[in-house]
Amino acid sequence: MIARFGLAAGAAWIGYAWVAHLVTPLCVHRGPRDSPRVALTFDDGPDPSWTPRVLEILAAYQAPSTFFLVGDRATRAPATVRAIAAHGHEIGSHGWSHTSLWRCGPWKTAEEIDRAQATLTELGGTPPRYFRPPWGMVNAAMFPLLRARRLRPVFWSIQPEGLRAAQAVSQASYVVRRAHPGAIVDLHDAEGTPGAPARLVDALPSMIEGLRSAGYELTTVGELLSASAR
Ligand SMILES: [Zn+2]
Repeated sequence: MIARFGLAAGAAWIGYAWVAHLVTPLCVHRGPRDSPRVALTFDDGPDPSWTPRVLEILAAYQAPSTFFLVGDRATRAPATVRAIAAHGHEIGSHGWSHTSLWRCGPWKTAEEIDRAQATLTELGGTPPRYFRPPWGMVNAAMFPLLRARRLRPVFWSIQPEGLRAAQAVSQASYVVRRAHPGAIVDLHDAEGTPGAPARLVDALPSMIEGLRSAGYELTTVGELLSASAR
């Protein structure tokens, strides 16, 4: 009886907390296929030492991008958040504490979304319009909560470095090889996988050059997705 109850509770939780974002068409993974545009996105910051280096590279190439920031990290690096906004990049939300929503009930999910939204709006000057769930994990409560707040869940179509480290050269060629119209590229400008931001800074110039020589225009997620509304 107890075992059966445990099984039912486990199944109910798995139903509530969906591991794979692929299970739902509610999530954005890419932009429209009819225009040669690609959005570079940076997760896990702001990082007071690495993010400014990424900003320098993006400024040198005049490449508008989207930064999915973690709320509590933003409160510790407010000048970096302001710098991202001042450079004209888009700020999205990556939750308050980078906790996987897989582990959060509805109340905690709302708290993760709302605290980040309030902080990022205050520091960045504009309410974020896009939300990227930490680790790509979602739950059933997330979708109505985001909809009520006019936030769209955004994932990616290309991820050159996930939990497994990839060298800078192979990251750049991975992205350029897989690039497609409407691609959303997931990058990390703060420590998660050890050494990730250093490899990103090395990879970014040739990634941008490679994408541009292949004919792609770099843009923010907002610009990429607004093309589909036209
Ligand atoms: Zn993350």
